[in-house]
Amino acid sequence: MDYRENFDVKKLTSFKIGGEISRVYFPENVEEFVQAIEKEPDAYVAGNLSNVLVSSDGYDGALILTKKMDNITFNGTKVTAGAGVRGTKLSKLALENHLSGLEFMVAFPGSVGGEVFMNAGAHGQMIADVLKIAKIYCPEKGVITLRNEEMEFSYRTSICQRKPYSVLEAEFELKEKSPDEIQTKMDENLSFRQNRQPSLTLPNCGSTFRNPDGNSAGRLLDEAGMKGFVSGGVHVWENHANFIINDGDGTSLDVLNTMYEMYRRVKEKFGIELKPEVRFLGGKNEKEVELCKILYQK
Ligand SMILES: Cc1cc2nc3c(=O)[nH]c(=O)nc-3n(C[C@H](O)[C@H](O)[C@H](O)COP(=O)(O)OP(=O)(O)OC[C@H]3O[C@@H](n4cnc5c(N)ncnc54)[C@H](O)[C@@H]3O)c2cc1C
Repeated sequence: MDYRENFDVKKLTSFKIGGEISRVYFPENVEEFVQAIEKEPDAYVAGNLSNVLVSSDGYDGALILTKKMDNITFNGTKVTAGAGVRGTKLSKLALENHLSGLEFMVAFPGSVGGEVFMNAGAHGQMIADVLKIAKIYCPEKGVITLRNEEMEFSYRTSICQRKPYSVLEAEFELKEKSPDEIQTKMDENLSFRQNRQPSLTLPNCGSTFRNPDGNSAGRLLDEAGMKGFVSGGVHVWENHANFIINDGDGTSLDVLNTMYEMYRRVKEKFGIELKPEVRFLGGKNEKEVELCKILYQK
């Protein structure tokens, strides 16, 4: 199995922020994943690092990246994808097979594993609508299979956030449709995103905070005056206040300082405590640990 020590993951993250991780494993299939996690039961599992802020000071521990678990099989209206398959790639292959249901993934930088973990969604579609079964690694039982209704999906969450479960593979049930219809929906999604989400040419990590119940984090942050806010080498996107952009030499501390200011202003103005959507992997920098205690309430 591909394995690296003191490996800098900065270039692998969509934020282009990060540091050295003590041990990084790149399994290519379920067997290799099980081998890695049995050796490193406390390993952090991630996919495409499009929703994780990795500390610029690095992380003392193990990371399993599923990027190479990228098998895809089509069988009628079913498609089975390894945890590391990119959402964008999967949606394009579904189009080629005249299958509808994954159009929302068209510009997603994430992997299938991360998307199932998050119950990722956009444009009125989400993982929970199309996932049939997921192959999961559970420390107590090994590899298990969970049906959709056992995944406890709701807004940007699944059972994998409450139990130490890792997603190994997902099977989706799609619907046959004409390629023209699928392409039209994808084009609509793409043009919607172009106006409301930064492309990856502006390194970012997607939505910084979750939408509070019945509210929009972007709107609250906008009204709290966050658009254009600068901290070190990062700034809050001028078009949508829930995105932080790395201007080139931004650090994780710049991001956490910005997140704290976002959190503080919204709490002060609206009495609402925003909860981060972006995850954090670090622990070596004391200032970052302090900020995380507030932001992640840990
Ligand atoms: C420009 C941009 C646009 C985005 N747009 C959207 C959007 O419209 N909708 C949306 O929902 N999200 C969006 N995101 C956020 C992100 O892409 C998704 O949440 C995606 O699902 C994360 O996948 P990932 O593989 O990058 O996960 P990572 O960033 O690698 O990990 C994110 C979390 O998932 C966990 N995880 C990852 N893989 C596994 C696995 N195999 N098993 C268990 N846990 C795992 C990690 O531990 C971590 O907690 C966007 C991000 C960016 C940068």
